[in-house]
Formats: sequence, C-alpha cells, structure tokens
Amino acid sequence: MQIIRRVDRLRSAVSLLRRQGGEVALVPTMGALHAGHMQLVREAKQRADHVVASIFVNPMQFGANEDLDAYPRQEEADAAMLSEAGVAILWAPDVDQVYPAGFATNVSVAGVSDGLCGAARPGHFDGVATIVAKLFNQVQPDMALFGEKDYQQLAVIRTMARDLNFGLDIIGVPTVRDADGLALSSRNAYLTSEQRAAAAMLPRAMQAGIAVIEAGGPVGEATRGIEQALLAAGFASVDYVTLADAATLQPMEIADRPARLLVAARIGSTRLIDNMPVNAR
Ligand code: AMP
Repeated sequence: MQIIRRVDRLRSAVSLLRRQGGEVALVPTMGALHAGHMQLVREAKQRADHVVASIFVNPMQFGANEDLDAYPRQEEADAAMLSEAGVAILWAPDVDQVYPAGFATNVSVAGVSDGLCGAARPGHFDGVATIVAKLFNQVQPDMALFGEKDYQQLAVIRTMARDLNFGLDIIGVPTVRDADGLALSSRNAYLTSEQRAAAAMLPRAMQAGIAVIEAGGPVGEATRGIEQALLAAGFASVDYVTLADAATLQPMEIADRPARLLVAARIGSTRLIDNMPVNAR
C-alpha cells in the first residue's frame, strides 16, 4: 500500500492503477479506524478492483467548540489495518494540500443539510460536502462508500453527487455495532467505562420506540419514551429524536412510508448519533 500526501503524486498513482484496468473505489474516513470503517473497505474490495482509502481530519466540518484538537489520531495503526485489508492507496493529505492559502470555496447542499445534526452543528454539512467534493475530484473514483451510521451525511452526499454530476456511484453500508448494539464510532473512545455501559441504552431505547411505532402507536409517544429512557440511563441531554422520511429526511408524524428514526444525544460531553430503519405500517 502506498501512503500519499500530495495531490500530484496521488494523481499519478491513481492513473497507474487505472492503466491496470478495472474500477476504483474510494472510502473516505477521518481515521481512528474500527470495524465499521473496515466493513466499508471490505465492501469496496468486493465491488471494485482497486481501493483508495483517505484519512483526513477535516477542520472545516468541526465547529469552534468541537473536538478537532482532541479527535483521536493513530495513522500508523490505521495504515497497518488498511494495508492488511488490501487497500492500494492511503490518501492522507497534508492540510495545505487540501486547503491551500486563499482557499475560498464552499459547497452547500440546501434542505437535507438543514435539520437534525445540521441544526445542532451549523456549517458542519458545508464542511462535509466541501471536503467530499474535493476528495471526489482528487481521486476521481468510479464509486465511493459511506456508512449509514452517518445517515444525514449520506443523504447530503447523495444529493451533492447527483446535483453536481459527479458521475460516480454512492454506496451506503449498514451500521456495524458492538455486541450490546452500540454503533461503532471513533468518538466511543472518549467514553469512560461507566458511560460506555450506559450508552448501550441508545440502541435499546430506539428499538423499543420503533416497536411502538411499527405496532401503530403514536410517534410522539415513542420519541418521548426514547428521550426519557436516555435521560434516565444517565445521558446528559438529548439533541433530537426524530422520525423522518428515509429519503428526504423531512420529519414525519405518521409512519405511512419507509422512514428512519434518528437520534443524537450527549453522554458526558460526548455526542453520540444513531439511526435505524422503520417499516411503513
Ligand atoms: P468517520 O471516520 O467517522 O468520518 O467515518 C468514515 C466513514 O465510516 C463514514 O462513511 C461513516 O459513516 C463510516 N462509519 C463510521 N462508523 C461506522 C459504523 N459503525 N458502521 C458503518 N460505517 C461507519
């Protein structure tokens, strides 16, 4: 596996891969890799001949009071995992390769970016859309894989790729979870063992709420039940518990079409997100 940090070198390495024939898949990450990221790589290996993974902790998608400096960084261990999994290129650009002096462009996807995490983290999805647009142009893959774990992010990227004619396939990969149901996340590393145990209430409460909705119970009652269960388990606050249209992410009062239950909540100062499908009644 080649580790590349400059755009010109990336371009020639990807051209070399292309000359060998076959398709190129991109798996963008911020590193601190876990089994969820590696599932994206596995899926990419199955679908494409060559896999490029990127690691870049993107300053533009972190708010002023967020965890940019504290975000876990472990590039050596990450590189070993990616190499072992058969990744051809690790694109780990230096910050100035991504944001050269005078960088002035913003990619903003209206509508789907606005609610949920977009409301709680102003500017976050502009940062995501801008870096992903840049990664698509830098690598020029045939397909790119993203986790359903970040469901709103996936919706933002699908919209952007369609609107801007990127001409690549966006593939969503189901969330990988720990044995107790908690979605794997690089941010789980921030949790104390007590918080980690309490965090298991997040998927459990969501499943209970989904059972209520799928049995025809009121959506408001189900979402309030989830919020109460999280606060009772020791979560500090709940940003949102929302039933939304699975494609547009518009909030829904009645589960009369395929939907997604999305939750963001804080345990200590760590913000956890999760989402699950809800069947139409
Ligand atoms: P991150 O490094 O957190 O930016 O995540 C990089 C990619 O991995 C994104 O597409 C995430 O949605 C995906 N991802 C993160 N956690 C999981 C998980 N538990 N299961 C599946 N994909 C995930």
